[in-house]
This record gives sequence, structure tokens and C-alpha cells, in this order.
Amino acid sequence: MAEPTSIDGLLAEGQRQIAICNGCRYCEGYCAVFPAMERLPVVGAGDLTYLANLCHDCRACYQACMYAPPHPFGVEIPKLMSEARERSYSEFARPRWFARWFTAGPRAVAALTLAGALVFAFLAWAAGRARGIFAPTESTRTFFDVIPYGLMLVPSLLLTAFLLAVIVWGFIDFQRASRGASHLGARVWLSGLAEVATLRWMRGGGDDCYYPAIERSSPLRRRFHHLTAYGFLAALVSTSLASFYHNVLDLPAPYPVLHPVVLFGLVGGIGMTVGTTGLLWLKARAAPLQARREALLNSSFLVSLNLASTSGLFLLALRDTPAMGALLVLHLGTIVALYVTAPYGKFVHIVYRTAAVLRSAAERAADEAAGGRSAREPAALGRPASTRLP
Ligand code: SF4
Ligand code: SF4
Repeated sequence: MAEPTSIDGLLAEGQRQIAICNGCRYCEGYCAVFPAMERLPVVGAGDLTYLANLCHDCRACYQACMYAPPHPFGVEIPKLMSEARERSYSEFARPRWFARWFTAGPRAVAALTLAGALVFAFLAWAAGRARGIFAPTESTRTFFDVIPYGLMLVPSLLLTAFLLAVIVWGFIDFQRASRGASHLGARVWLSGLAEVATLRWMRGGGDDCYYPAIERSSPLRRRFHHLTAYGFLAALVSTSLASFYHNVLDLPAPYPVLHPVVLFGLVGGIGMTVGTTGLLWLKARAAPLQARREALLNSSFLVSLNLASTSGLFLLALRDTPAMGALLVLHLGTIVALYVTAPYGKFVHIVYRTAAVLRSAAERAADEAAGGRSAREPAALGRPASTRLP
């Protein structure tokens, strides 16, 4: 007998709730999850993983559900999906023994930030630049006067390689387990990636997410999410441009304020700081419909990203002051914490969601090819009025 996966324990409860939803079908216009449920004659563990990562946790279905607690049917789709998502994080995180270290949540982020800062302080000391951290002199004008470029570059490349290797490993395992589509046409790729980029399903059936109050939809979560995601992309562009200017054009930092490297970094840093602060604020006030461990991992990732972006902004603002050396070491510590913890928490959701959205787009394209526009296309159905009992 095959060794049970960690999601198997949740499967019976998932099958029970999904059978009720497939009989009810009230929410099939809300998002891609309900039409995907209806395509499944039998729900297996991989299917539950797929559905869970297709879910945006917008809570529209919970707000509308006449069978939610205290009804004896006890249907709580957002909570079910959260528990399945959390299990997929631990199931596909590699190596698993390493992933267990980061279940301590924000405490693990704080410890890794401190450890990362100490490593870079040691490197500065080993290069004979320790004075640049706490007692800068006239000659300590740039970041590389505190930590030489090579000593900053090699750890960064190693961390990036680690992050990419763990994510690709997890993606392949996830794709295999969730029976992701193996052949995707150009149209499926385009529509799937557009849905990921625009967070299409975060609007439920037309409204926004039910955060922070479960009774009322609000655009806040979608907006904070966009600020965080596009801020992260802008920061990546800034880092890539800095590398191009340094290595290809032989124009090392520092750059003036109106330089593309600084502008992308500034916009990205502000976006991430505002976005992650807003998401943490919403989480603290939202109804407790998330699995405890998923909530912890989400908070860890948001805290880690917030520390990295906020310390980056302080570093930019104070780069010409004596505080630059200490701030640089602290900022590099936050980057270490972000890169080491990212593959084991909310960050991988980006990868798994993309795989799930692509499978959903492929299924909808197959429906269309079989009989014109799919009767299960959520946008065709619109959002029914809430029937949730007071
Ligand atoms: S109303 Fe409740 S039971 Fe019906 S589809 Fe929505 S979540 Fe499922
Ligand atoms: S995306 Fe929203 S409506 Fe769809 S299953 Fe998740 S919480 Fe429910």
C-alpha cells in the first residue's frame, strides 16, 4: 500500500464538503474552484491539493453559504482549503527536515535575520572593514567600502540558487501530485498567466474579498496584495539592473536618486512596506477561518518581506550618514531570512497557484472545445445574492 500523504487525513472531510457543494452549486459563479469541483467525479488527495491552491481565500463562499456553521452540515470551504494548502506547503517543501525548522513563525525570521547580520559582520571583519559598520571614516562612502562586492555577491548567488532549486523541486512534485496539465497551448498559458497577474479570482463573483469583516466585501486585500506583489517585482528589477550596471557597464553603486536602480528600488520598497503592513493589519482583524499553521507561515513571510523592504528604505534614506554600515549589515540579514524561509511558507503559494490556475485554464479550454463556451465558466454565471443566515 502506498504511504499515505499528509493530505490524506483531510480527504474524507474534503470529499464530504465537496459533495454538498456539488449538490448545491450555489457558488459556482464565485471563482474557479467550484466549477473545478464539478468536473471531478471522484476527489483524490491530489485534486484537493489542486483545489486548495486555486482558492484565493476571498471568503465569498463562506459569507454566502446557508450550510456554514451553526448548520449541522458545517460547510466551511475557506477553512478546508486553508488546511489543505498548509499541508501542501509541508508536503512539497524540500528537504522536509529543513522545512520543520521554520514552523516557529516570526521568531524563526528574527533568529535568521540576526544570524545573517552576524555572518555579514564577520565577512566585513574578515575583510578588515569592521570599523565601517560602527565607526565609519571619511573613506567609508559606499556599501562596498563596508563589505567588498565579492563577499556580498557570493552569498547572494548561493542563496538565490538554493531558493530556485527548492522551489523548482517543490513545483515538480506539486505538479505531479495535483495532476497538473502536461500539455498547455499558448492560449491556456496566456489566459492562465493573466489570471495570476491580475488576481482575477480575488474578486469572487464580482465583489472583493470579505476582509477584514466577514459580512462586508472590501477592495483592501486585493490592493495590498497587488502592492506587495508588484513591489516585489520592482525590487527584483532594481537588483537585476544594479547587477547589469556593475558587471556589464562597469558602473558600480552608489547611484543618484533619479537613477533607474534607485527609482525601481524605491517604488518596490514602498509598495512592499505598505502592502505587507496592510495585509498584516487585515489578518489581525479577519475572522479565524485559516488553519493555524498556514496563518503562522503567512505572517512569517509578510514579516520577513516587511523587514527587508523597510530596512532597505532606511538604508537608502541614510546611506550618506554614519548609520549606513550598521543598516547595511542589518538589511543583508533580513535578505538572508527572506531567502531561507521563502521556500517553506506563503511564497511557494505563488508557484503552486500558478500551476493550479494553469490546470484550471486547460480544463476550461477543453470544456469550450468540447461544446462551445463552458457552462461552468464562472464569469458566465455572475454572483448570486448572499443567502447566509444571520
Ligand atoms: S452555498 Fe455552501 S454548500 Fe452551496 S456551493 Fe456554496 S459553499 Fe457549497
Ligand atoms: S476563492 Fe473565495 S469563493 Fe472561491 S473557494 Fe476560495 S474562498 Fe471560496
